[in-house]
Amino acid sequence: MTDKKPFEIARETLKQITVRKLVPTPINYQAIYNELAGVPPIQPFPADILRDIAQALPTKTPGQQKQKGLLEYAVDRLNWEGVKTALVAYGGFVPAHGGESNGLASVPMPLSANTAPAALTADFMAQIGRLIEYAQPALGDDDPRFVEQTQSLLKAIRQPEMDSANVKLMLNNYGHRLSFAAEDQAEIKKTLLKLLHLVFENIGDLSLDEQWLKGQMDALMTASNPPLNLRRLDDVERRLKDVIFKQKDAKERAMLAQEEMRQMLATFIQRLSEMTQSTGSFHEKLLENARQMEQAKTIAEIAPVLKEVVGATRSMAAQSKSTGDELKAMRERADATDAELAKLHKELDRVSAQARHDPLTGALNRKGMDEALDRELSNVRRKETPLSISLLDIDNFKKLNDTKGHAAGDQALAHLAAVARECMRPQDTLARYGGEEFVILMPDTALESGVEAMTRLQRELTKRFFLTGSEKILITFSAGVAQLAENENALDAIKRADQAMYLAKRAGKNRVLAA
Ligand code: GH3
Ligand code: MG
Ligand code: MG
Repeated sequence: MTDKKPFEIARETLKQITVRKLVPTPINYQAIYNELAGVPPIQPFPADILRDIAQALPTKTPGQQKQKGLLEYAVDRLNWEGVKTALVAYGGFVPAHGGESNGLASVPMPLSANTAPAALTADFMAQIGRLIEYAQPALGDDDPRFVEQTQSLLKAIRQPEMDSANVKLMLNNYGHRLSFAAEDQAEIKKTLLKLLHLVFENIGDLSLDEQWLKGQMDALMTASNPPLNLRRLDDVERRLKDVIFKQKDAKERAMLAQEEMRQMLATFIQRLSEMTQSTGSFHEKLLENARQMEQAKTIAEIAPVLKEVVGATRSMAAQSKSTGDELKAMRERADATDAELAKLHKELDRVSAQARHDPLTGALNRKGMDEALDRELSNVRRKETPLSISLLDIDNFKKLNDTKGHAAGDQALAHLAAVARECMRPQDTLARYGGEEFVILMPDTALESGVEAMTRLQRELTKRFFLTGSEKILITFSAGVAQLAENENALDAIKRADQAMYLAKRAGKNRVLAA
C-alpha cells in the first residue's frame, strides 16, 4: 500500500492516463488508480492475455490475417466491441474440414515454415507479383509507407535467388496492411459519394427557379446512386458540366440585369437630386444615395438605399406641397419671361428679314440682290442698255476651310468682297449668292466688257493676299458671265452664268468664261 493521499493518487492517475495515451474511460481510470494505490491489480481489460491470443492465432488465409490485425488493433484501444467483431469474423475464415475453407478469400498461403522453397515455381511467384502490381492502383498511393512496402515485396519476389522465409514474412505483413488499405478505399469511396450528393442537393436548392436545372439535378442524384460504374460516372460528369455551364450563364444574365437595374436606379436618383437642387438637404441626401447605388454590388446592398430614396421622395413630396404656391408663382413668372423672349425673337426675325446685307462680307444678301435686280431690270427696259451678270465661286474653298479653319474661310470671303468692291465701278452691285458664291451685277456692260471686268478682278485678287496669323493666303475664283437677253428673266440669266462658271471649273478653275 502507498502512503500517498487519495487526491494525490487521483491527480497522478489523470496524469498517467494522458502520458500513456489511454482513453479516459472509468475502467481505465480505475485500473491506473489501483495500480498507483498499490491495490491488487484487477484487470478489467485483459489486454496482455488478448494480445497473446491474437499472436497465437494462425493466419493461413488473408481473411484470417485481416481479422487478426483488427483484433490487435481493438486490443490496443481496449475496445471489447472490436475484439468481439474481429474474433467472430475470424471464425468465418477458419477452414471447415482440414484444407477447405468457407471464406471468400480462401486461397491458402502457399508457404509455411515447413514448405520446401522448391515448391514455389518462378512462374507462381511471378503471378503473385503481377497480382500485387495490378491491385496497386485500386489502393491508391496516399500511404507512402505502404507504397514502399509494396515495392520492397515486389523486389524480393523478383529476386533470382529468392529468400523464401523473408518473402513469407513480407507477404504476411503486406496482407495485413492491404486489408486496412482496402477498407480505407471503400470508406473513401462511400464518403466521396455522400459528398457528391450533398453538392448536388445544394446546387439544386440554389437554382429552384430554373426548371431545367432542377430536372438535371434530380437526374444527377439518381445517376450517382450506387452501384457506380464508369459509364454512369461519365454520365454524371456530362450532366454536371451542363449544369455548371447553365448556372454560369444564368448567373451572368442575373448580374447583367442587376447591373442594368443599378445603373438605372443611380441615374434615377441623380435626376431626382438635380430636380431638387434648390431644396438643399434632399439634394445632398440623394447625391449620397446615388453614390451608394453606384458602389452597390448586390441586390441586398441596393434595397436599403432604395428605402432611403423612397423616404426622401415622400418627404420631398410633402415639402413640395407646402411650397406649391411659391412654385406656381415662379412658374407663372417663368412663363411670362418665355412669352417675352418669344416676342423678342419674332421681332429679331422680322428685323433681320428686313436686312439687305450679309453681315460677314457687307455684300447684299439674297433679298438685297433680288431688289437690286428688280431695279436694274427696269433700268434695262427703260434705257435699253445691256446688263451683264457674273456668278463667281471661290476655288477649293472647302480645302481652305479644312486646312486653315473656318475662321480663315470667313476671312477669305470678306477679303474677296473687299477686293471686289475696290475693283468694280460704283454702279456695280456685289451680292452674296450662296456660301462662297457671289453675283456681280454690271449695268451698262456688254458681255465682253463684263468678262474683262471679271478677269481684272481675278488678276487683282492674285496680287493681294490676306493674312491668317502670319500666313499669307491667296485665293482664286472661277466665274461665268452672262448678258441679259431680251425678254430674259434675271434668274435665267444667272442660271446661264452658273453653267458657264461650272464649265470654268471643269476647264481647270481660276478662269472666267462667257455664257
Ligand atoms: P470648287 O473649287 O469646286 O468650288 O470646290 P470648293 O471646295 O470651293 O466647293 P464646295 O462647294 O465643295 O465647298 C464650298 C464650301 O464652302 C463648303 C462650305 O463649308 C463652305 N462655306 C459655305 N459658307 C461658308 C461661310 O460663310 N464661311 C466659311 N468659312 N465657309 C463657308
Ligand atoms: Mg460652291
Ligand atoms: Mg467653290
